[in-house]
Amino acid sequence: MAEVRLINVWKQFGDFTAVKNMNLHIKDGEFMILLGPSGCGKTTTLRMIAGLEEPTKGQIYIGDTLVADPEKGVFVPPKDRDIAMVFQSYALYPHMTVYDNIAFPLKLRKVPKDEIDRRVREVAEMLGLTELLNRKPRELSGGQRQRVALGRAIVRKPRVFLMDEPLSNLDAKLRVKMRAELKKLQRQLGVTTIYVTHDQVEAMTMGDRIAVINAGELQQVGTPEEVYDKPANTFVAGFIGSPPMNFMDATVTEDGFADFGEFRLKFLPDQFEVLEEKNYVGKDVIFGIRPEDIYDALFAQVKIPGENMARAMVDIIENLGGEKIVHLRVEDVTFVGKFPAESRVQEGQEVDVVFDMRKAHVFDKATGKAVF
Ligand code: ATP
Repeated sequence: MAEVRLINVWKQFGDFTAVKNMNLHIKDGEFMILLGPSGCGKTTTLRMIAGLEEPTKGQIYIGDTLVADPEKGVFVPPKDRDIAMVFQSYALYPHMTVYDNIAFPLKLRKVPKDEIDRRVREVAEMLGLTELLNRKPRELSGGQRQRVALGRAIVRKPRVFLMDEPLSNLDAKLRVKMRAELKKLQRQLGVTTIYVTHDQVEAMTMGDRIAVINAGELQQVGTPEEVYDKPANTFVAGFIGSPPMNFMDATVTEDGFADFGEFRLKFLPDQFEVLEEKNYVGKDVIFGIRPEDIYDALFAQVKIPGENMARAMVDIIENLGGEKIVHLRVEDVTFVGKFPAESRVQEGQEVDVVFDMRKAHVFDKATGKAVF
């Protein structure tokens, strides 16, 4: 068993709290992503799991072993945690061949020579490095070097992989390729993996689950679908998805509408039921809807004038080839739509837009927490 558990973990640097009361349970064999903006505490969290940083408070378990608990004076050093780390800057030994770089952790542990040979070749085969075993790091491309670094991490068969933005030094195309390879490799090996990134696309495509962190605090843990479809608050809703979710100030009316001042959208009956139950009728809320859920009316299937449509001014169009990002405005209410390439919208002209109310979200104005 190699689950990883963080229980009420805190990390202070002087007066500054980098990690606040983190509770996280990473299951055996799971690919868990720690996702959040720069400085949110994801690297610090990973370093505490690795044993490169001691928590100020709380407990960390790897499998059944308590590896850190300052109150009990427990601190297991990194080398005894049976983990392997891959970082953004993967330091390979420049004077060693690929073979020796991968073999190094096994040599350190005095593994017999023939077993080293067998495992290095197995890993090289898995990573497509067999032809390159005699090369030195300077004779490799960035992607190949990154694969050697991965090879060195997996050759030991650790209980847990810890990865900190391991793909961020690669160019965009290679990153996409390595993303898929790394995911496949992790599935094959079945090793619990904790992967830090600030890239939401990486998180969505690779993670079994994503832990979204902001300002040292865990915001939500869930599958990519859960954090996308049911964000727990405005932070998660705005951080995941591109372009980000539209947030619009609205008032919930007694007859079941979101009133934006210039226009209104009717909530679905079950949505309004929740709003009534939770006492939001007559109150100001934040209405959220993703750009992909606002349609050019010409391409929308269900159009209900006065209930899910508005006539909007097109301010700016960003043409991405496959689709158009359209900046829209009804008087001073602004929002962004993602329209198909075939849409004939023109800057400076009006267009009828349809809001897919099934995809609407409502957040509490004071706390930012999701109502639905
Ligand atoms: P990035 O994506 O930029 O690496 P991150 O989410 O990984 O960000 P951390 O490296 O965990 O962020 O840092 C969290 C906060 O803790 C930051 O504000 C950082 O400045 C602070 N911090 C990290 N290490 C130390 C330290 N040794 N001493 C003081 N402050 C630190």
